[in-house]
Amino acid sequence: MIVGVVADVSLAHAVVRMQEAAPFCDRFEVRLDLLRGLDPEANWAPLFAHAPRPVIATCRGPAEGGGFHGGPEEQRDWLQQAIAAGAQAVDLELLAEIDLQRDPAQVTLIRSVHQFEGEPPALGTLLALARHAADSGADVFKVAFPARGISDCLRVRELCEQAPLPCVAVALGELGVPSRIAYRALGSEWTYGPLPGAAPLAPGQVPVEQLRTRYQAHSLHPDTRFFGVLGNPVAHSRGVRVHNGAFALMPELEACYLPLLSEDVTEFWEFARKLPLSGFSVTAPHKQAVRAGLDRVTPAARVIGAVNTVWRDEHGRYHGDNTDYAGAFEPLEERLPGGVHAFAGMRGLVLGAGGAARTVVAGLLARGAEVYVYNRTHARAEALVADMRAHAATGALAELVPPGLRHDGSAEILSSNVFALQQIDHGFSGLPFDILINATSAGMHPHEEETPFDLLHAVEQGFPLSDGAWVYDLVYVPAPTRFLKQAHQLGRNILDGRPMYRRQAELQFELWHNQELPSEETLDAAESKL
Ligand code: NAP
Repeated sequence: MIVGVVADVSLAHAVVRMQEAAPFCDRFEVRLDLLRGLDPEANWAPLFAHAPRPVIATCRGPAEGGGFHGGPEEQRDWLQQAIAAGAQAVDLELLAEIDLQRDPAQVTLIRSVHQFEGEPPALGTLLALARHAADSGADVFKVAFPARGISDCLRVRELCEQAPLPCVAVALGELGVPSRIAYRALGSEWTYGPLPGAAPLAPGQVPVEQLRTRYQAHSLHPDTRFFGVLGNPVAHSRGVRVHNGAFALMPELEACYLPLLSEDVTEFWEFARKLPLSGFSVTAPHKQAVRAGLDRVTPAARVIGAVNTVWRDEHGRYHGDNTDYAGAFEPLEERLPGGVHAFAGMRGLVLGAGGAARTVVAGLLARGAEVYVYNRTHARAEALVADMRAHAATGALAELVPPGLRHDGSAEILSSNVFALQQIDHGFSGLPFDILINATSAGMHPHEEETPFDLLHAVEQGFPLSDGAWVYDLVYVPAPTRFLKQAHQLGRNILDGRPMYRRQAELQFELWHNQELPSEETLDAAESKL
């Protein structure tokens, strides 16, 4: 069940908001403590008996994050009045010593505990609280506790499996978001979300319309196949719309794609293996660190040193691949005259030294280009170059040579073909760059004013960029970036990160589901509803 929380509005406005939000909600929770100017003398039936969905009445005190400042008797009176007005459930803090009169067949009693700070409670503590709730006559035990890591979401499942009564459990904060979306799979009775357009009342709350349409949270179950995107941050990722948009069009896949925020990859692996995740995308900054938890890495991902796609086989082993590689180069090869052959002898400058930079540096080298790498943190550029030289020397980079070049042998991979640049503005002698690739996050939403460097100014100062050069920015939100707009102003060929995003997502989808991702037009239409 998806429960829409009604707060911060007047009684009259609450009635209108409930009508509007009804398509997304199975129930409402009316926060008596947070409604504006609620008059106990008023008729509350429109909030409860006449509401379009059954309603939980809550009147919480400040000790547990509520806004009710009256004493216990007044709290009891308000809840009692809500029951008389037609509330079908009441939520009462477990610590509140209040006796409510209700018909247990008509009105559900929820006893709740809310902890916003500190460490998440141990399972034993949660179970003791649940037993206490059961002993006090509760029908449902509700608990909200802070998530310190994504694996704290799994405590919800342990509690729900072992508690003596039905539970609603939430791991709070952005790290706890999976517990709000996958609540049914974890055994929780329902999930709460703000009404459309309303501000979240608790950290990590997901709006009801997203719970209903994007994640179809109400229909997920323990056998749902869970996927997602691991990163930090993940809020900007298009993946949740692309993959969930495809699942909406292909319900037979019985899958859901979750935002998987994690600061600590080791701790994330505990979550991934225990849930278990059927597969996941990896985004910055975890593309390198994620490898430590994998059972197998494809040769291409090993050489690149970055994994963006993980899938679980039938034996529970996790495999890592890099679909960014094909994603980055296929759109470029479609546009460059000469396609895959166009790179031999080219001079390329790659900005960045993270996972994406590793991918494009390795790909340029494997296609026979001479590559320069510049990164804000020079030591990382040097490490990248040292790795690539080693891979060139051992022949490992040959893994990445496209089949067309492998046969004609035109891609000569020389370990002396890759260099780290200390500075961007001088030290260039000889030939100009034919391709300039931004593989940094500079300019990515929400820092749209940033550029990896001021290209207009640099060219004015003699930065060597050939007239027919291609400037490729892997950033896909926004597209084009400020950097690409400058390149366009300079009359150079430009390519933004959207085709790469689409291609790597297509390849992930095929790896995970053995099916093709719906066409861009079909998916755009589906995504726009999410
Ligand atoms: P990453 O591993 O975290 O690396 C980030 C890189 O960006 C590092 O080199 C970092 O430099 C640099 N950087 C960050 N902020 C900067 C700034 N303000 N100025 C200059 N340099 C900055 O990330 P990643 O996975 O390689 O991704 C990099 C970018 O590629 C992201 O914007 C991502 O969206 C994009 N990308 C796009 C696609 C696609 O499908 N289109 C796929 C993959 C990646 P330091 O080392 O100095 O920190």
